[in-house]
Amino acid sequence: MPENKPETQAGASTSRPLKVRLIRASRHISRLAFAVAIASILSQFPFDYIEAFLFDARIRMRPSPDASEHIATIAIDPATVSALGRVPNALDYARLLENLKTSGAKHIVFLVSPTEIVGSYDELVHLAKTAESIPGFVVAVDDVPLKGEKDALKLAPPFEKVATAGAPVPVDRNIFARDDVTRRMMLAYQDLPTMLPLIASDYSPELKARNESEPYNRDALRGDFDYLKSDQAYVQFSPRGTYKPVSFLKALELNPPLNEFAGKTVIVGRDIETTSKDYIRTPYSRDIVAMTNIEYFANALNTLITNSALVRAPKVLGTIVTAAISYMTVIVVLTASPTLGLAILGATIAGLSLVALLLFWLGNIWIALAHPFLAVFICYYFFIPYRLIIENRRSWEYYQKNRLLTQVEELKTNFLSMMSHDLKTPIARIQGMTDIVKNDANPLSPRQREAVDTVRRSSDELLEFVSGILNLGRIESKAIQLHLHSKDVNTLVKDVVQKLDYMARSKEIEIRTELEPLFSIKIDVDLIRQVLQNLIENAIKYSPDGTSILVSTEERDGWIVVQVADQGPGIPESELPHIFMKFYRSRNAKASTIKGSGLGLYLAKYFVELHKGRIHVDSRPGQGSTFTVELPSA
Ligand code: ADP
Repeated sequence: MPENKPETQAGASTSRPLKVRLIRASRHISRLAFAVAIASILSQFPFDYIEAFLFDARIRMRPSPDASEHIATIAIDPATVSALGRVPNALDYARLLENLKTSGAKHIVFLVSPTEIVGSYDELVHLAKTAESIPGFVVAVDDVPLKGEKDALKLAPPFEKVATAGAPVPVDRNIFARDDVTRRMMLAYQDLPTMLPLIASDYSPELKARNESEPYNRDALRGDFDYLKSDQAYVQFSPRGTYKPVSFLKALELNPPLNEFAGKTVIVGRDIETTSKDYIRTPYSRDIVAMTNIEYFANALNTLITNSALVRAPKVLGTIVTAAISYMTVIVVLTASPTLGLAILGATIAGLSLVALLLFWLGNIWIALAHPFLAVFICYYFFIPYRLIIENRRSWEYYQKNRLLTQVEELKTNFLSMMSHDLKTPIARIQGMTDIVKNDANPLSPRQREAVDTVRRSSDELLEFVSGILNLGRIESKAIQLHLHSKDVNTLVKDVVQKLDYMARSKEIEIRTELEPLFSIKIDVDLIRQVLQNLIENAIKYSPDGTSILVSTEERDGWIVVQVADQGPGIPESELPHIFMKFYRSRNAKASTIKGSGLGLYLAKYFVELHKGRIHVDSRPGQGSTFTVELPSA
């Protein structure tokens, strides 16, 4: 057995930290596993509606792109209709085309189908011929041809030779937010380019298709993605009104034609709110006429010319961010205080939003925010109850421990009181007997007298200790009641000094008194006597032989002030705050042969405060101590 013991102990001391470390590691691993699980589960659901809301918020919050210098817009507006007294007819359109041609426009995009334009057959033929004669003229058709379908976009006669191009307006009706908002543009369908990359590559040659099989240079264009056989990209929107359209009327009356169209792509369309087909809803507004198609195409074209379409961050990156945020949330919820936890999570959400906005704005990168945000909420609401359960259990354990401690404390006090009470009678008997022996007519031998004196002194000390313990018991059970009587404190001081005179003389200590005449005050005589006795006794106890003690009284500002000043060793500053504590004895006192229980000053303070008085000490090591008791004089 004895040989085994050290071994087991050594084994226990090394295995314990390892066990603790293993428990900690497994705790971290399970939290991490939870975070990864939450991130993977969340990533299975798109939460498109929230993501679209956050996408639109970023569009609105980031500084929007300026209007392109390559794009101009012309709108058939209410002013045109009211000035002409009708919608423009074929001759008006032909005149507009002539004007734009002479002004040097590079591309003219008609969002109005010529087949909808009113005019006589000859007028329509005239318009068709004019349109055909302009190389950059194109009619944007809201459709796309299938591969191999040659004439799908051909217009009805007499416009069959007029150039057309597919220019559909994608709407988030069945995908993403399903809120009928337009956020994308179509670049190609079945590898056939739409109008947008064709025009854009005239301004940005690097976008030009490198061979027959590709609609545009896919490597050069950023942000394009596949969607149902089509190539699409997100539009970098500017708010409505960024492109200020020239009124159709004004463009018609231009004479000489405006130079502002030179080298530009001019988009011509309607803005008379007669049909919702001429408008889109945008990330800025869900209004049915939030933006004209004219401005939409201007925005889309500008996105391509500046090659600034948004690039979606890879899904896996989103999952990693979500897992990291989930892990952090779990740690914060389980370890930080509720306020700090909320602050950290709030700051994390704000920080992530800011990073996402900066990436969106400066890098044209779109990182998903719905998943990380939801992860924070889910982890928070999942782990808060868990933490509450743990804390509840802890406080229950604490409560139980506390109850047990209180019971033990009560038991201890009761036991001490009982013991002390029962000790008092035998001590009194011993004291009585020693007095009888000392006062006996037969003189004692010097050794016997010395022995009897020692018995007497020891029984005095024991009695004092027992009384202290009894008083402590009474204090703790709140059984002390003041018995107030009118008394002159000076009389009390004199009594105590006289009583302790013998003790002082045995150490050749002189007790001097300076007592100012005082009015009697109401005090519990027994208790205040104990206070004074303790202070003077301490002064005698702790002072070296041959010194002197000054006990003074005076009345000052409504207080009766009693001071006991000695020339003893003083009390170190570090111990001053403790000397009125229960059972406290200074280090020097404990090391010396001077006896004491550490209860005297605790009781003195308690008794003085029961009288609504104050007690304090001024002391410096080597310069004596002055204890001051102040009792209210009224
Ligand atoms: P004790 O029974 O130890 O005297 P007290 O509560 O009366 O207990 O005093 C607490 C401590 O305060 C003492 O142990 C002693 O270190 C210090 N002390 C009290 N009075 C004096 C004094 N007059 N001079 C120096 N130290 C004192």
